[in-house]
Amino acid sequence: MAASSEELVFAPLGGVGEIGMNLSLYGLGRENARKWIAVDLGVAFAGDDLPGIDLIMPDIGFLLEERHNLHGLVLTHAHEDHFGAVLDLWPRLRVPIYATPFTAALFEAKRLSEPGAPDIPFKVIPLGARFALGGFDIELVSMSHSIPESNGLIIRTPLGTVLHTGDWKLDPTPVIGPATDEAKLRALGQEGCLALVGDSTNAVRDGRSPSETDVAKSLAELIREAPGRVAVTTFASNVARIRAVADAARACEREVVVVGRAMDRVVQVARETGYLDGVQEFRGTDTYGYLPPDKVVALCTGSQGEPRAALARIAKGEHPDVTLARGDRVIFSSRTIPGNEKAVGAVVNGLVTQGIELITDRTHLVHGSGHPRRAEMEELFSWVRPRIAVPVHGEALHLAEHAALARKVGVPAVVTCRNGDLVRLAPGTPDVIDEVPEGRLYKDGRLLVEADSRTVADRRRLGFVGVAAVALALDGRGTLVADPEVELIGIPEADADGETFDEIVRDAVLDTVENLPKARRRDPDEVAESVRRAVRGAIAQRWGKKPICVVQVILV
Ligand SMILES: [Zn+2]
Ligand SMILES: [Zn+2]
Repeated sequence: MAASSEELVFAPLGGVGEIGMNLSLYGLGRENARKWIAVDLGVAFAGDDLPGIDLIMPDIGFLLEERHNLHGLVLTHAHEDHFGAVLDLWPRLRVPIYATPFTAALFEAKRLSEPGAPDIPFKVIPLGARFALGGFDIELVSMSHSIPESNGLIIRTPLGTVLHTGDWKLDPTPVIGPATDEAKLRALGQEGCLALVGDSTNAVRDGRSPSETDVAKSLAELIREAPGRVAVTTFASNVARIRAVADAARACEREVVVVGRAMDRVVQVARETGYLDGVQEFRGTDTYGYLPPDKVVALCTGSQGEPRAALARIAKGEHPDVTLARGDRVIFSSRTIPGNEKAVGAVVNGLVTQGIELITDRTHLVHGSGHPRRAEMEELFSWVRPRIAVPVHGEALHLAEHAALARKVGVPAVVTCRNGDLVRLAPGTPDVIDEVPEGRLYKDGRLLVEADSRTVADRRRLGFVGVAAVALALDGRGTLVADPEVELIGIPEADADGETFDEIVRDAVLDTVENLPKARRRDPDEVAESVRRAVRGAIAQRWGKKPICVVQVILV
């Protein structure tokens, strides 16, 4: 029966069961003949468990298979977890890509900063735009968030209307940009909404996220009463916060110096797109040293402790232009993202050791999340009154709390799904009906590698045990014609009795070759494998750990 009827389906390929690398698909049509739209194409940031990997992105194999049925990609906003994979993955996908002006401009600035990046043509659409992609009638709805131009999508189809919230909160007094469009959302409720596919990030938190305007007031106070220099660090893309700091600085006659390339880029784009209209010009870092301490505010990248970002370099005294001293004040206008605690701790401790005063959101209202807490989520449900709730954008706990809240406020059906689930929204009872291929890609240097390739597993092992490399030269009769070459990397110098591992390895090599029967000695593969096992065993016996062992045999 399913095969013969038209269906509206939802399939997340990233961002559900995790925070980051958002990629959602909506499909319309009969099974095997579905047409798709994709929403967002983001990255996640790799932790210490993936040595040498910076970024994680969704595997788009399924989208590539369905490329001829894919009408386009719509980006909700310019956060990396929503658009960070476009630069790497769009060249494979090559479908029309839609975004509002700030998102498109920030993307372009990012693209131009990467040498050799391909040209990616955006279709730039205005805020509130309504446009058709095949059978999908899409209307943007402005949402407050922590970056300009976060858009929810109202997706109308012959089988019902979906509200894809994107990232949002209900700040009625954002410092910049339109507030969440309550009128449009209430009208959607009147018109009838089939499903709300929504942000779960803060579903565990009661109450409401603070307004940007209140955060701005508190920042202004803290900057005004600071005796010496002030450095404020925040997420580079938080233009409202940049504006709040600029206004606070002007009110007490301090100059603003922007420190950090990512923030420079955002400031430039925000000026081009009008989000910093009326804000004074900022000064270059080269002027910082000439300004009296009570006449400057440094606006810095590095709120997550990133070692190469401005604040970490300042904290270590390694920044060429910008320094801080005892009595200066650093404000973390940010939240530490789980996983970054150690890196932030290192920066914080570096600053405290130098006698610098630290202010964080533990004690002061210096940050507000960009995501809705429970009271805001309840309010949105009351406006839109969807028949189905589908929690996304969160880890398992966030999704479960969002689901429980939806049930509590009386949403008739709640569907919990994970990346790779295919959810039928209509017709009939909504449910997970199938799976689509999903996975992860790792950005490894300039390359994209499959998450299940051996690269990272090998590298993780290398971090624990080191490498023993041996090269042997044999003549045609299987006799060693020179001493073996031995190179040990990441292996201790000597064993507990003081014998060097270099000696231990050489002895193992010579013993093994001498004791091999003549016939087997003429086979280089055989020799290599025997030596490899012997070397590994000899090291393991003295060290208690098995290294990675590489043996090359050259016939001369
Ligand atoms: Zn966001
Ligand atoms: Zn997000």
